[in-house]
Amino acid sequence: MDGKAAQIGVALRCRWRRIDLSAVAERPETEIETVPMTDSQKQCGECSLCCKVLRIPELEKPKDHWCPNFAAGMGCGIYPDRPPSCQAFNCVWLTEPSLGPEWKPSISKMVLAGKPNLLMVHVDPGANRPWRTEPYYTDLKRMAAQGQKNGVAVLVVDRGRNIAILPDREMDLGYIDAQARVSFEIVNTAKGPEWRVRVTAAGESEPGPQGASDR
Ligand code: SF4
Ligand code: SF4
Repeated sequence: MDGKAAQIGVALRCRWRRIDLSAVAERPETEIETVPMTDSQKQCGECSLCCKVLRIPELEKPKDHWCPNFAAGMGCGIYPDRPPSCQAFNCVWLTEPSLGPEWKPSISKMVLAGKPNLLMVHVDPGANRPWRTEPYYTDLKRMAAQGQKNGVAVLVVDRGRNIAILPDREMDLGYIDAQARVSFEIVNTAKGPEWRVRVTAAGESEPGPQGASDR
């Protein structure tokens, strides 16, 4: 059961336990932490969902809008000259052998992107909360449980809302201002290690660890 999540955890494992999403959000997709292609059987094929759900900084393409260079049935109109962000990107489904065909983004309607300490789940805004359906929800919970051990947080971004998937619950962080800081931190409790998530508005000082809240 945990084999699937375990392998994902290994692929994305990082040393640091604290994550500052604001720093991650500013990073162009070229800096996405990718892992070597390990499953040559997987191909993008008809899928182009990353051309819709990802922000492409070089093109000033916003998240959740089709790239103007994409045409249905034709694909990328500038493929040989596509920006570095596009050239560098491999979604986690492509690189993670344990993710089955149901996780292909054109089927799941979700693009998994690995960043340091973070597994982002970019949801197609045209889909109706697919991350809440099975088998995806159970898989995401497993990934969250493994991620808690390895210091990898799971964050769903669905039509602008940010939802942290935790092993025992989910936290709707809502619409987060671009200037806000979101941080994940693992703290040890009587029940074992748990994620603490907090959002700090622009200009607001961060509370110390003892003030951390998972509201
Ligand atoms: S989302 Fe993944 S499978 Fe789909 S086109 Fe992008 S890289 Fe390929
Ligand atoms: S430039 Fe091409 S590969 Fe990049 S997002 Fe646009 S259509 Fe997709």
